[in-house]
Amino acid sequence: ATMPPLLSAMANAGRHGVLVKSAVVMERLGQIDTVALDKTGTLTEGTPRLTDLRPLDGSGLDEDVLLRLAASAEHPSEHPLARAVVEAAHARGLDPVPAVGFSSTPGTGVTATVDGRAVAVGSPARLLDDPAHPAAVLAAALEEEGRTAVVVTLDGRPAGVLGIADRLRPEAATATRALAELTGRTPVLVTGDNPRAAARLAAEVGITDVRAGLLPQDKVAAVRGLQDRGAKVLAVGDGVNDAPALAAAHTGIAMGRAGSDLALETADAVVVRDELATIPTVVNLSRRARTLVV
Ligand code: ADP
Ligand code: MG
Repeated sequence: ATMPPLLSAMANAGRHGVLVKSAVVMERLGQIDTVALDKTGTLTEGTPRLTDLRPLDGSGLDEDVLLRLAASAEHPSEHPLARAVVEAAHARGLDPVPAVGFSSTPGTGVTATVDGRAVAVGSPARLLDDPAHPAAVLAAALEEEGRTAVVVTLDGRPAGVLGIADRLRPEAATATRALAELTGRTPVLVTGDNPRAAARLAAEVGITDVRAGLLPQDKVAAVRGLQDRGAKVLAVGDGVNDAPALAAAHTGIAMGRAGSDLALETADAVVVRDELATIPTVVNLSRRARTLVV
């Protein structure tokens, strides 16, 4: 028998490294007219590295002690920022100590007890309430340079700031442009990261609609907001924080290589080899199959 068009499109998508979970999804991919892209791990490679290590004056900590505390608290986390911190500690020969009571909040950060002290590592916007605090000023300066700043607090008090930077995927700008041409609308950036770093990266790929500092439920609201105005949204993400938005969108695609289990399970399709350029390809495959079906 000849393969039905949607099934052969799925097989074709598979050859391009995109796992489409059902024929219904294969069909829906061709209907999308707006794309919402996550930043960290989606437009960027998702392997950020520690670039700055700044204990605060008066914290009594040196660089190694600060890094070891942060790495101990981050050790159980699967977040790319956590991996950057843990790897930097490892590179300096600092072994993390076992943390107890680990807890992570998507879009915010982690908390744990290390050596009997409460450690939090996470977003300056969420952990600091005074924008004039030296930690907030330091964080803002790092963000101005396009980095992600992460604050470390010790027993509730800011103790230091870490700067972390990730590289744009080489194909990020071309894939963004291809999606813009395909849908007639430039993709929207939806990110939990800070507005300064987000705006800088968006400019590099030609995105003008930037929604930053978003919690997972804010990403859902952003997708719903677009869909309430009649758009059919394709959401692309990799993190636990992206999963609700992937589920809310007309179609959700997860980045496979470093994607979290939750994102991979929730998404309708997975870019197994992590090549952004295959996303416009599968949208085209769907459109062609649909013209054969109807
Ligand atoms: P994105 O939407 O860009 O993928 P996330 O929502 O995963 O970003 O994270 C948003 C912000 O939350 C980060 O920029 C960071 O400030 C903070 N954050 C989340 N998880 C962690 C973590 N494990 N360690 C430190 N900071 C974190
Ligand atoms: Mg992400």
